[in-house]
Amino acid sequence: MVHKKTVMNDADLTAFRVALMEWYQTHKRDLPWRNTCDPYAVWISEMMLQQTRVAQAQPYFERFMTRFPTVRVLADADIDEVLKLWEGLGYYARARNLHRAARRILDEHGGRIPDERDVIAQLPGIGPYSAAAILSIAYGKDEAVVDGNVIRVLVRLFLMTEPSDTPAFRRRAGEMAAFLLWPGRAADFNQAMMELGATICTPRSPRCAVCPVRHLCGTVARMRNPETLPCRRPRRARPHHAMTAGIILHNDRVLIVQRPMDGLLGGLWEFPGGRLQDGELPEEGFVREIRSTFGLEVGGLRYLAAIRHAFTHFEITLHGFLCEWISGERAYPSAVWVTETELAGFAFSSAHNRLMTAWRENATSAQLRLL
Ligand code: SF4
Repeated sequence: MVHKKTVMNDADLTAFRVALMEWYQTHKRDLPWRNTCDPYAVWISEMMLQQTRVAQAQPYFERFMTRFPTVRVLADADIDEVLKLWEGLGYYARARNLHRAARRILDEHGGRIPDERDVIAQLPGIGPYSAAAILSIAYGKDEAVVDGNVIRVLVRLFLMTEPSDTPAFRRRAGEMAAFLLWPGRAADFNQAMMELGATICTPRSPRCAVCPVRHLCGTVARMRNPETLPCRRPRRARPHHAMTAGIILHNDRVLIVQRPMDGLLGGLWEFPGGRLQDGELPEEGFVREIRSTFGLEVGGLRYLAAIRHAFTHFEITLHGFLCEWISGERAYPSAVWVTETELAGFAFSSAHNRLMTAWRENATSAQLRLL
């Protein structure tokens, strides 16, 4: 529990709430999910906004809500179509979890998104943050939201200098947020805290001069540089993996494979290939993988591009090739041959989309064209 007197007295607490809420009512951005308290729309927007900036999420949200306007429509959809609409937004587990959760909501809750913490937390992809956001914004419950924006505001407001990426800190931040929360006004208050972090108390160049709560801010009072907060433990270097993938042409078609539904980029499609072994040249590794994993012989290899991509915990360099099928039957369950036109109907990861772009940009000569 947070002890009030060590954090903020009652007068300052009231002043903080009033100043924040008045500022929010005047300055909040007009965002499509703010025009509704439909729990389904709130749920979709909160899932999209995790790890994603508002400007990037907005067009995805509008397309998603147009195509899947209700829990039932989403539950009835094919996961491939859901992933296709999510393509480019990253963290694809969110899309798979939305789809799974929609089916559970339909089967177990009659199509209504649960309004109790213990029940909603059982749904796939609903963690403490999303549960608090849905319960407060859609159902008006007094649940405090703690996301990256809120943590940044809390840390600077209370001048919290310990590393912010520990479980103990997250617990403390949760207590602080619950302490500040305006009972009965959680929907707007939570959104105001997030909005302050997103638009004023930003990671770099925070706009303290126009901040509505600067008179209560510990960082400003002690003349500390807010950009140095939150503190984080030093990050370990991300491991790097060298991968290969190739666009294999055969009879006006190209081979693509679907990743297993569970795991990284689950359900997305990609061009066949695999990881390079130590000391192996990219073309050697590609041919070996195509032979051993896919049962194919290929020839006429052309190097297309080296594509670097960073995931949360590691980075890859994807060596991309263009080549032709020579012999063999595809010995891989999810592999299919498709035309170039049909490729547009499949959801690809960012790295493989860039490989496709490299192929098209290089396909200026007849020799490289598929069709
Ligand atoms: S005064 Fe500056 S550091 Fe403090 S909460 Fe406002 S923007 Fe953040």
